[in-house]
Amino acid sequence: MNAIRAVDGDRPLPSLPPLGELRRDPRQAIRDDAIICLICGRPFRQLTNTHLHGHGTTAIGYKARFGYNRRRPLMALSLRQKYAARAVATGLAARIRRRPILAEPELRRRGGVRPIALEEFLTRREAQLRAREARRGRAGGDGAPPAMIAL
Ligand SMILES: [Zn+2]
Repeated sequence: MNAIRAVDGDRPLPSLPPLGELRRDPRQAIRDDAIICLICGRPFRQLTNTHLHGHGTTAIGYKARFGYNRRRPLMALSLRQKYAARAVATGLAARIRRRPILAEPELRRRGGVRPIALEEFLTRREAQLRAREARRGRAGGDGAPPAMIAL
């Protein structure tokens, strides 16, 4: 019934960074054709509950352990795009009626206070660096070395 299966859980992908490197930046484990399990290092189209259960964890526990954003889909980018296109084609958004921020005043009261996952931290840091590079590019081009960046 479920057509989604592992790409090839026993064969490591070519040109894959070592597992330690993927764990330091978990975004690197999500690739176009596969997601690499950061526990066993095997590639899959998606990390199923069944697979994670075999490691004694859940999707929520896995995301927290490796620093993924809470809403990060644990699947290959190509599969995610396929699901997103299907959701648009079937009008999924129009069928979602409940908006938690409106339904639960407690969410609004807490404002933007929430934990920041490693994934979000890394992505934000890269965006800041790119913005600084862009500003530097506009400002000068005098060949001066870049200033130290405090992170
Ligand atoms: Zn695994």
